[in-house]
Amino acid sequence: MDKKIADAVVEALYSGWITTGPRTKQFEKMLTAYGGQAATLCVSSGSAGLELILRWFGIGENDEVIVPAYTYCATANVVLHCGAKVVFADAGSDFNISLQAIEKAITPRTKVIIPVDVAGYPCDYDEINALVQREEIRKKFIPASREQEMLGRILVLSDAAHSIGAWYKRKRTGNLIDITVYSFHAVKNLTTAEGGAVCLNLSPPFDNEAVYRQLNITSLHGQSKDALSKTQVGSWRYDVIEPGYKYNMTDLQAAMGMVELERYDSDMLPRRKAIFDRYAAALGQYQWAQLPLCETTDKTSSYHVFLLCIKGITEEQRDRIIAGIFRREVAVNVHFVPLPMMTYYRDAGYAISDFPVAFDNYSREITLPVYYDLTDEMADEVVRAVAEAVEEVVM
Ligand SMILES: *Cc1c(COP(=O)(O)O)cnc(C)c1O
Repeated sequence: MDKKIADAVVEALYSGWITTGPRTKQFEKMLTAYGGQAATLCVSSGSAGLELILRWFGIGENDEVIVPAYTYCATANVVLHCGAKVVFADAGSDFNISLQAIEKAITPRTKVIIPVDVAGYPCDYDEINALVQREEIRKKFIPASREQEMLGRILVLSDAAHSIGAWYKRKRTGNLIDITVYSFHAVKNLTTAEGGAVCLNLSPPFDNEAVYRQLNITSLHGQSKDALSKTQVGSWRYDVIEPGYKYNMTDLQAAMGMVELERYDSDMLPRRKAIFDRYAAALGQYQWAQLPLCETTDKTSSYHVFLLCIKGITEEQRDRIIAGIFRREVAVNVHFVPLPMMTYYRDAGYAISDFPVAFDNYSREITLPVYYDLTDEMADEVVRAVAEAVEEVVM
């Protein structure tokens, strides 16, 4: 947050338009140009965007949605909001959902798969896409809504809460798969304090512009006209064509987002990458350090958070290492505690023993801070605290 953002918000405040209006529409166009998808709808949060799409696709009771065991709770909670069943799939060693685990989890009730680009590193989208297109998998699919009939297969809904600006085979997240959702929550790479966006990239027979218009209505109480179009002269009458939701973004949020997006590639992403590179260079010297993947031939991360793993330790040792890091006045985190370990999901009958890779990733993981204002000196201090704490516990 800086003066430029504050000025943009103040300008919006005094503009005479503070809720969804011209700035939101402009931010949507900028996001479409940035990601290369067909259309973008801004919403009040990433969670709202995910749920909106599940509702649009007609997800409800008796449906199953495949979700990684290793993610933030939003990815799974929205499935429950729709009354459907969460089917967890285990992670791979890159922290992302495993293709083999997805394949094993598919049943005739599977309607959607929600891969998550954990820490900003894109999933294997070509493989996931090929999987849902496979003849024997398409044959299992039983459509139960107009949209499901039009698609004729499992929908892939990418949770790209971490991965705006990441690359996969020379394309950005946002146009890799059917539909992608970004989050602009305060902790994410690009923030509007709270907010999110739905990137539409559906193939024919879908018309993405038409789907955009429909979602725009669903995200605002099913009103046939939003407040902005009602301000046109003589245009007071509107209808309610469905019991929609209240998921719209405000122009104050969009004002922040536009400033952030304008400098994202030239300033914010390079700084994050520099912090990643600094961590990798310093920690790479220790044989106990297992560094996260962030650049391969096909993929470039958006450098959201640095997922360091310590080789050969237990969960209890990891916790002691974290305590040692905090004693050195450095704040670290764990991304994520797998959802089957959370009380609600455990009580619902999920068992972490069914997701051994997610557990292994989690039990040895320490998330190092990555944010714009973190200086090189601070990054070096983080590394020093981690190294001292690890050696205290393991050596
Ligand atoms: C933050 C996050 C979300 C939810 O985004 P909100 O904008 O906070 O609703 C969803 N999935 C993942 C993986 C996240 O980290």
